[in-house]
Amino acid sequence: MTLSPILYAADILYTGMGSPVRSGGVVVSGQTVAAAGPLAELRQNYPQAREVPGRRVISPQPVNAHTHLDMSLYDFKSLPYFDWIPEVVIAGRARRGLEGARVGLEAVRASGTAGMGDIVWDAATMEWLLQESDVPGTLYWEVLDPNPASAQATFEATREHIVAWRRLERPGGPRLGLSPHAAHTVSHELYRLLAEYAAGEGLPMQIHVLEHPSEAELFATGGGPLAASMGRMVPGLSISDILGREPSEGLTAVSYLESLGVLKARPTLVHMVNVTPEDIRTVAQSGCPVVTCPRSNRNLHCGTFPWQAYAAAGVEIALGTDSVASGETLNIHDEIQAAWAVHPGLDPRLVVRAAVKGGRRVVGGRVPFIRRGETWSEQYLWPD
Ligand SMILES: [Zn+2]
Repeated sequence: MTLSPILYAADILYTGMGSPVRSGGVVVSGQTVAAAGPLAELRQNYPQAREVPGRRVISPQPVNAHTHLDMSLYDFKSLPYFDWIPEVVIAGRARRGLEGARVGLEAVRASGTAGMGDIVWDAATMEWLLQESDVPGTLYWEVLDPNPASAQATFEATREHIVAWRRLERPGGPRLGLSPHAAHTVSHELYRLLAEYAAGEGLPMQIHVLEHPSEAELFATGGGPLAASMGRMVPGLSISDILGREPSEGLTAVSYLESLGVLKARPTLVHMVNVTPEDIRTVAQSGCPVVTCPRSNRNLHCGTFPWQAYAAAGVEIALGTDSVASGETLNIHDEIQAAWAVHPGLDPRLVVRAAVKGGRRVVGGRVPFIRRGETWSEQYLWPD
């Protein structure tokens, strides 16, 4: 008895090569790809194939380019960003750590994610993930210190950690990276030290940038609700102390990071919602990729990521879930669905490409090809 090949049909086919196409399909014989391409052509060439209709996407698995696994024991809460940081992240800090990371890693694994970019807050979690995680990608060590007086000491401690943890990297396992938390929560002195170190060591970086409109206000005027929230969290430290300059009209988190030389290290910039057209040009010229987290942005009242403008400027875009505390789940397929809903006018193929190829550009790894002779994977059939 011979089994007839199966023809899987989809609205969007991404083979990992070129750009995703509409109305595509894959012919699978046994466990091997016999052909992939336009559906009409496959129907003609494989009349004996049994057709399985109705998928939205066939593609290599997506990547979750921005997570906080160690916050997986937090409850989800929707609040404006400047209230969410103190009322959720800081208030719930006792729940942050290794136990959350275990739960989070399981959720990421179960969601069919090919890789992840995770922000790690404590040493025990970093050591566990470096030794145990079987999800490839990058583990970014989070650094947060707005006080320039302690920049040198914080930098030395960071370097000691990195040197020790480099020995824990395994072939095929996650690689180490660095995450200065946000443009306004790491002092200008520390930014210079970290960016130079990361560039010299080839350490990938992720930075939260221009997430909420109040961050744009902070850089332009030194005031607003985020400045007030910072004033309560780090009393005695002014915004100009942190930035090493006065806030001013025309200053943005992007132009500030560029002025410090940080963008030369080509960090991945996460969120990037409240940007100016000039910021987008700067990011395109510097070659920094950006990660968008549509559900988190919606839940923290951040506004809408200007996807079309980034795409027009040729900026590499990836997708991430952020933590469950703002993003609801760590399932990247949920985030892809949200991206389609939040950007109804956007060509849905751009979202697929971002989740697959953009994600790997950010966190590392190669896109497997769906083409004749390659092994077929059921994971290529994305959940609808
Ligand atoms: Zn985040």
